[in-house]
Amino acid sequence: MNAGSALNQSESNWAKNVIKEDEIIRYMTNGKDFISDDKIWGEIANNKNPEYQKVKDILQKSLAIETLSPDETAVLLNVHDEELWNEMFEVAGEVKRRVYDNRIVTFAPLYFGNLCVNDCLYCAFRKDNGREVRKRLVLDQVREEAKAMISMGHKRLMLDCGEHPSTDADYIADVLRTIYETRSGRGEIRRININIASMSIEKLKMLNAVGIGTYQVFQETYHHKTYRDVHPNSEGPKSNYGWRLYSLHRAMDAGIDDVGIGVLFGLYDWRFEVMGLLCHALNLEEQFGVGPHTISIPRLQPAEGTPFINSTGYRVSDEDFKKLVTIIRLSVPYTGLILTARESAQLRREVIPLGITQIDAGTRIGIGAYSERYDEQEAKRQQFLLGDSRSLDEAIRELAETGYITSFCTAGYRCGRTGKLIMELLKSGQEGRFCKLNAVLTFREWLDDFATEQTKKAGESIIRKELDEIRQRMPSVYPKLTEYYRRVEDGERDLYF
Ligand code: SAM
Ligand code: SF4
Repeated sequence: MNAGSALNQSESNWAKNVIKEDEIIRYMTNGKDFISDDKIWGEIANNKNPEYQKVKDILQKSLAIETLSPDETAVLLNVHDEELWNEMFEVAGEVKRRVYDNRIVTFAPLYFGNLCVNDCLYCAFRKDNGREVRKRLVLDQVREEAKAMISMGHKRLMLDCGEHPSTDADYIADVLRTIYETRSGRGEIRRININIASMSIEKLKMLNAVGIGTYQVFQETYHHKTYRDVHPNSEGPKSNYGWRLYSLHRAMDAGIDDVGIGVLFGLYDWRFEVMGLLCHALNLEEQFGVGPHTISIPRLQPAEGTPFINSTGYRVSDEDFKKLVTIIRLSVPYTGLILTARESAQLRREVIPLGITQIDAGTRIGIGAYSERYDEQEAKRQQFLLGDSRSLDEAIRELAETGYITSFCTAGYRCGRTGKLIMELLKSGQEGRFCKLNAVLTFREWLDDFATEQTKKAGESIIRKELDEIRQRMPSVYPKLTEYYRRVEDGERDLYF
């Protein structure tokens, strides 16, 4: 594969020191990683034409909130019967309700730099894309972005950037501190998740000390050859499959036990990738006793100056996308499932009921796009083109009108409910108890501080239902909740269980 243009001297020196070989090898078994391409295809092939009862038994296991085995997931991947598929869609929704009830968490990404030493063929930030206007926000600009996001009502951010010496861990730590310190009106950002390059344990420890929510790294594709083909630049650290694959193992060893995995669907066969995600979840469970907190399912989108999408043979249709969401939900029932604004509003409407727990909304992905006026240059500063550009208020209103409560709860990691503890609470259905209460309180806050009248009306009708349910199902905490609820109505903020 063409290695593209060379990095400049200082970028090249920096890139050479990113990968610590021993922080790959230590997680392997006999020098092998946990993805065997042949074994995955073998499992898919061996489970063709599954019996009806076998599928039904597997669905029961999902409903009991147990992680499926690769063989069981392969069975589901081989279902062709339409009626069975309808049942699988239903059960996936039910699994989500059992673990997460009717809650949806919202967040918005903040892109603060698009310089990158890698050349991922699908991404507009790739170093060889001469059409991309490069920019890194200085801390004052980060503050302006955070203020603009806070005044839109955001409480949870996802930080994103390219991999570059100018946005290395120490700079990311400064960005985190800057955002946590920023206030605007009645708002603040209470949780920052990060979706950034693979890092060493030492750097991750430093970020963990500043305070992060979830650390996400997407493998993009689990298929070894495809991975090599789409990450051709040998100088860029991302071209190393193993370094990428064990990013979250290193995070666990750095003390970050809240991690998110993902695949960029459209690079390779989606059925293989679903198996890869499951193997990743199982390996984390096996090595650390805790699986991923979230799974992300970005689907390849057109990107400025990036023709790759026209040549991949693996673009995923809307129908297959719904199927893959369903199978992931059934295979790893406890995990959060993130559907981003890469997808259109219409598709999101159809996919959310299949088990989605988090969406971004009011999203802008241009560098500096929340605080600066949007202009035609914008496309040249972003990573891909967005499918859903509705405001946060509009998205929340629609969720409320269709029976979902938007949760702005950020209590989990601030109360130490992360990692193993949260997994156990989720699997046993107990986390739902805290979440339900906190969802009501944070949604009340948000409706009072940021909602339009129309959204407030839709939101209040959901809150009434929730309060009623809590009164009946959790009578012991109801008095305390109503006390907190009144205090929030009177203007107190950030009360949580
Ligand atoms: N540079 C970091 C990295 O590579 O991990 C951060 C990644 S980027 C901000 C987040 C994700 O966007 C990538 O991991 C990839 O899955 C996704 N992405 C890149 N190009 C895309 C495209 N054209 N369409 C949809 N998603 C894309
Ligand atoms: Fe850089 Fe990440 Fe884009 Fe790859 S996906 S080019 S590493 S920003």
